[in-house]
Amino acid sequence: MYASQRYFIIRLIGNCVTLANWAGKEIRHITHASRYAPSKLEVVDKGNRDFQTKADRLVQRLIVVNLKKIFPEATIVGEEDLPVDEEEDSRLETHFLSCHTTGPEPAIQKMPIPPGFGYENLTAKDITIWVDPLDGTAEYVEGKVTHVTVLIGISVKGSVIAGVINQPFDSDDVSPNVDGHKGRTIWGLVGLGCFGVAPKKPLENSEFNIVTTKSHGNKNIEDTIAAIKPDKVTRIGGAGYKVLKIIEGEAQSYVFPSNGCKRWDTAAPEAILKASGGKLTDILGNPIEYNYRPDNDYQNYLGVIASVDEASHSKVIESIPDHVKNQLLELQKQNLKPKC
Ligand code: AMP
Ligand code: MG
Ligand code: MG
Repeated sequence: MYASQRYFIIRLIGNCVTLANWAGKEIRHITHASRYAPSKLEVVDKGNRDFQTKADRLVQRLIVVNLKKIFPEATIVGEEDLPVDEEEDSRLETHFLSCHTTGPEPAIQKMPIPPGFGYENLTAKDITIWVDPLDGTAEYVEGKVTHVTVLIGISVKGSVIAGVINQPFDSDDVSPNVDGHKGRTIWGLVGLGCFGVAPKKPLENSEFNIVTTKSHGNKNIEDTIAAIKPDKVTRIGGAGYKVLKIIEGEAQSYVFPSNGCKRWDTAAPEAILKASGGKLTDILGNPIEYNYRPDNDYQNYLGVIASVDEASHSKVIESIPDHVKNQLLELQKQNLKPKC
């Protein structure tokens, strides 16, 4: 018999959904307040078209400080390196307790957990939480706000099991006030399914469409696309947004045979895609390992391939040219060699 409320994993997902909803609202506020004065976004250039804004900083802080408070034994890895600010942390904790009085998302607390996955006995010390406070920052600073997502992924023993994605904007027009935008939160638990989105398979015998990066392109990516010969290539930002396009049937695969993408980019999208029947791996078709390693930069050196189904995934993996595979393997070897 299902009795979800007492399960840690359901409480954790419920809290992540509440925090992701709040994060989306903060992103809408900051975006709206800076629409005539982009300097208010306080952009920091981390190099290689990798940016950080005021919204990235606030959202990481509000998610991490509250998850740490509720689940002190969990391991949490956030994208942004932020200075200690106890006053701001305390403000965000107080705000969470006073404004989210219903606690973790009530609808999720009624969810069953699927038997056979070992979820019953999980506790906070078993899990790692991967936080990308604002995925698609390169597009965000260009005003393409629909590409933005908040990503919270949950892994156990190196594999993702659950994820939460908030997409704050349903249109790139930020002129309506913040309440004029419908954000949405999508979540998934492997074995249970995904919620907040209507999964749609591309029609059989339809075109083979792919999505790829808009801001971090290179020759290996173009060589791979040429080898796949897709009918349509859509170049958009963010790992979260691209995976949503696959789940919603707009493309069969997300093709990124390059380093640069990190574990916090892929954790939540992979979990939600897996929960909806899809697959995300590196370019060799091997699973990405989500182990906590403080000495690691958490890059997905062997790239990211995500697909709606096994057939599409194999088609992409088999098309990747050998020179692309060899270059990424070499890059991984150079970067992950033991440091003396
Ligand atoms: P993209 O598909 O370019 O939007 O990338 C998906 C995620 O991976 C975003 O969070 C990017 O910031 C990150 N990413 C991909 N390639 C790079 C890179 N070369 N340098 C820094 N971040 C990258
Ligand atoms: Mg990202
Ligand atoms: Mg980010």
